[in-house]
Order: sequence, then C-alpha cells, then structure tokens
Amino acid sequence: MKQLKRPTKAKECPHQKRFNSVLQAVAEALHLEHWEARYTQEDTQPEDRPNLLAVNRCVSEGRRLWIVFYPALYECDGEEQLRTIIHEYVHALHNPYVQVIGQMIDWSHEADRRWSEMIETKMNEHVTDHLTSAIYDLIKDRFR
Ligand SMILES: [Zn+2]
Repeated sequence: MKQLKRPTKAKECPHQKRFNSVLQAVAEALHLEHWEARYTQEDTQPEDRPNLLAVNRCVSEGRRLWIVFYPALYECDGEEQLRTIIHEYVHALHNPYVQVIGQMIDWSHEADRRWSEMIETKMNEHVTDHLTSAIYDLIKDRFR
C-alpha cells in the first residue's frame, strides 16, 4: 500500500479523504462497515511509547469501535500502516471477549490477578497478530 500521509484538520484535506477510504475498505473487508466507528488522531506521541502507532480505545459493549492513531503511524511505510489498521480492527472485533475476560480477572483473587492479566494481554496480542497476518495476506492486493 502507498504510504498514508497524516491528515490535517483542514476541511478539504486530501490525506483525510484517502485515509478514510482505506479505513472504509478495511472495515468492509472485515464486515465492520455497519459498526459505529470513531477515529481520532493524537497530536503528540506519548513520551514513554515512541513506537505506539494506534490503539483500540473502545470499552463499551456492542458493535462500536474507537481507534486512536498516533504520529508515529505516519513514519511507517504503507504495509506497516495497513497492518496497523487491520490489527486495531481485529482488537475491536474481539473486544467483547476481552471485556468478559477482564471482568473475570477483576473478580479473581488478588494473588491470581497479576499473572492472569499478564497472560490475557499476551494472548490477546498473540491472537490479534496472528489474525492480522492472515487478513493482511487476504486483502493486501486491494491496496496496490
Ligand atoms: Zn495490539
């Protein structure tokens, strides 16, 4: 995929138009186009996370997603950008499952909570990365 440029807040920003079209295309590929979606751009990179590209920030139930993009995303090539977008959509897809696990962890004994949170975080990223790779291979040719 050709690299995405950081959208500006200008009304007719061409980067925003292309960015939105890529988001829409990936959402359609994952059958998420009917979900309530919110996308935000952070103006500054967190000092403690210089390589953070995006996060799924949605914590509510239902077919909703909220993806936050960080400035470092626009330093990446198009392939990494596309992988990042897919990755955050996959997080949104299994958000309800993660919420259930999180609730169970909250209910667990404090002694079990620390290791179970660590395992859940690793499992979540492992599954998300695996699905991201599979989906990337299936749809990457649409973005050439
Ligand atoms: Zn992740």
